[in-house]
Amino acid sequence: MPCGKWNLDRTQSEPWCCVRRHVVTSYSPPPASPAPQGCPPIPCDVPIPPLIREIVFFGDPVLRTKCAPVELTDEHKALADDMIETMHAAQGIGLAAPQIGLPIQMAVVDVAHDPECLTFLKVDGEDTPLADIMPLIFVNPELEFGDEKDVMNEGCLSIPDLRADVTRPEQVTAKLTLLDGRRVTIETDGLLGRAIQHEVDHLNGVLFIDRLKPTAKARLRTSLKRMQQEYKERQRRKQWKK
Ligand SMILES: [Zn+2]
Repeated sequence: MPCGKWNLDRTQSEPWCCVRRHVVTSYSPPPASPAPQGCPPIPCDVPIPPLIREIVFFGDPVLRTKCAPVELTDEHKALADDMIETMHAAQGIGLAAPQIGLPIQMAVVDVAHDPECLTFLKVDGEDTPLADIMPLIFVNPELEFGDEKDVMNEGCLSIPDLRADVTRPEQVTAKLTLLDGRRVTIETDGLLGRAIQHEVDHLNGVLFIDRLKPTAKARLRTSLKRMQQEYKERQRRKQWKK
């Protein structure tokens, strides 16, 4: 809710109130006394630049949460812009909402940099160019898998600097709701199929490390333990500041 506090970050062209979606288009500094109560009436039809959100790391319990289904609103469109901005800034090809601390069934994928990364792509049964659906933003996914398996080296923005070979189904059929509310069926393989599976795993509290063979996971154990301790340390510091 609006609180009347102002963020006058000079890197922003406009001052912001605590509610990011309210841009102050005609700002005048609040009087020194008394303190302003709440935000003034503010027009909300000004285009809002997307924000880079903070990515949460392994150890944070939100990454182990089974996420809630989404009922789309305009807020999800703004959130999607933020998620795409955050994913691109981190040089990732996918990002799920729990990775920015939100336990909801929403994710973004963008493999447009590599048009050769798949052998086929159908949307509702029609052959479709990859560029037509990138970046892919979806909520409430349901997946079905083909029988063939494939191995690819995977990483995760929430588990930085660790990578491992992961075996997954090669082909995936994904029923997804797009931001405009359309429910579509996407059939594909390759990197796009892999990225969709990885992100949908996030929405179920599953990480790629859970899909490793025990020997591969054992090799990562020390690093994962360190990340868990770092998370606990960050939490302690936050409590200390309060
Ligand atoms: Zn991930």
